[in-house]
Amino acid sequence: MNGVFKYSAMVLACVTLASGLSGCATSAVTGKKYLKLVSADQVNQQAALAYKDFLSKNSAKVVTGTADAAMVKRVGNKLATAVNQYLQSTGRANQFNFNWEFNLVKSDDVNAWCMPGGKVAVYTGILPVTRTEAGLATVMGHEIAHAIEEHSVAQASNQIALQLGGQILGSAAGVSGNSTLGVFNNLYGLGGNLAQLKFSRSDESDADAAGLIIMALAGYNPNEAVDFWKRMASGSQKGQPEFLSTHPSDERRIADIQKLIPNAMKYYKK
Ligand SMILES: [Zn+2]
Repeated sequence: MNGVFKYSAMVLACVTLASGLSGCATSAVTGKKYLKLVSADQVNQQAALAYKDFLSKNSAKVVTGTADAAMVKRVGNKLATAVNQYLQSTGRANQFNFNWEFNLVKSDDVNAWCMPGGKVAVYTGILPVTRTEAGLATVMGHEIAHAIEEHSVAQASNQIALQLGGQILGSAAGVSGNSTLGVFNNLYGLGGNLAQLKFSRSDESDADAAGLIIMALAGYNPNEAVDFWKRMASGSQKGQPEFLSTHPSDERRIADIQKLIPNAMKYYKK
């Protein structure tokens, strides 16, 4: 999608909807403005169904009873607790009705994701790259940040704005559940690789910034994120892991993350 067009659609919808519908939102951690035409509850409901479907189709691959599986749940719960406390401290806890789940999935894919509403999957293939709990917290914190910053909600809203155009701008009725479902299926692909939304470079930067803060709040040293991304970058010469196709790990990203460390360290609780 053309970036300028997307931005224009967002600004137009934000301005037009300002008086009636809640068309604009401010993200929870980085404070970015985005278009919000769907309720998070609607998106989260769809995500929960898709996650359940994913787990049942991959039930033989969901790892249980191992130290790694326990680590994924432990790190996930620490990150979720930190996020919940942060949202409470900023008075926004009631806007995030997350029902967290963390699962380790047996797969050679170097990948991890978090669906809207806090549905997380970590693939065993990424563990040699995360290596430590802080490395794992880097990946999970980043993925959780996409969900907390509502990047999927914003993408769904941008699509609705473009699809419905003038209709929605003139309507006070809001967006129906059916329309949300259609857009959700469109974004995630029915039966396809449901978790891998491709986010914009700017969403990626925001998820890096918010993810560092989230891992710091959970007691993980944000400096370890730099080591993780370096490992990810060096592994990329041997092939193209799934995670790298959506998360280009180059010198620029690593340099940008290094610049974000001093701010994240303010939140670091040992
Ligand atoms: Zn990302």
